[in-house]
Amino acid sequence: MNEVLKLEHIQKYYGSKGNVTKAIQDISFSVQEGEFVGIMGASGSGKTTLLNCISTIDTVSAGHIYLNGTDVTEINEKQIARFRRENLGFVFQDFNLLDTFSLQDNIFLPLVLAGKGYKEMSQRLQPIAKKLGITELLAKYPYEVSGGQKQRAAVARALITNPKLVLADEPTGALDSRSTDGLLRVFNDINRDGQTILMVTHSTKAASHASRVLFIKDGEVFHQIYRGNHTNEQMYQKISDTLTLLATGGEQYE
Ligand code: ADP
Repeated sequence: MNEVLKLEHIQKYYGSKGNVTKAIQDISFSVQEGEFVGIMGASGSGKTTLLNCISTIDTVSAGHIYLNGTDVTEINEKQIARFRRENLGFVFQDFNLLDTFSLQDNIFLPLVLAGKGYKEMSQRLQPIAKKLGITELLAKYPYEVSGGQKQRAAVARALITNPKLVLADEPTGALDSRSTDGLLRVFNDINRDGQTILMVTHSTKAASHASRVLFIKDGEVFHQIYRGNHTNEQMYQKISDTLTLLATGGEQYE
């Protein structure tokens, strides 16, 4: 199996002498092609920092991050935007759709930036829109559709470049429970089709859909749960137990 992502002894400090915050102490893990990995941890444990380092938005203080074999910590400024566009898809809590663009134009945006023509964009969009059930909504604007529909458009935008890895940051955070169920089904569907996903979440329910869950505490990997043959309900229970353990370790889980 191919390793899509490999983190080797990542460290990240903020600030300078005398006032240093160690956001990431020492994190190493790998994600294999086709995995759906959830990352959980209390507020301030380093999840956002980790995601920002993987997504090349922030730089590490030490260590290496390999995405599909390329060391992202070595990519220069000029190439970074292109590398990100070609290898990563992003799904955010607040959708990050442009209000003045139709859903279709929002989804096309990464391909427009990559200089693709309309015909190719359209051909790529059709099967993705169908799978996500948004074909009828493509001409609408973000303010005309529900949160769940907006998030499905955002997933389409993430998938249209055929990325090696989809990074999701609290993707169900702004959704009601019905839309959450819908989005998690979408994630499971695209993962079944082979899409590798890394998702940061506070939601036990969202994490229970992952094939593996990593727990971060104080900038380190505290524990991992593999799905194995467990059902979502059994995963939910195991995650809850681990969160209780984390919380009784003296930290308030949010
Ligand atoms: P999480 O996403 O798990 O809530 P973060 O990655 O945001 O955690 O934060 C981890 C730690 O790093 C926290 O102590 C936070 O205050 C600190 N931190 C995050 N970003 C910065 C920054 N830009 N400057 C200084 N400290 C930061």
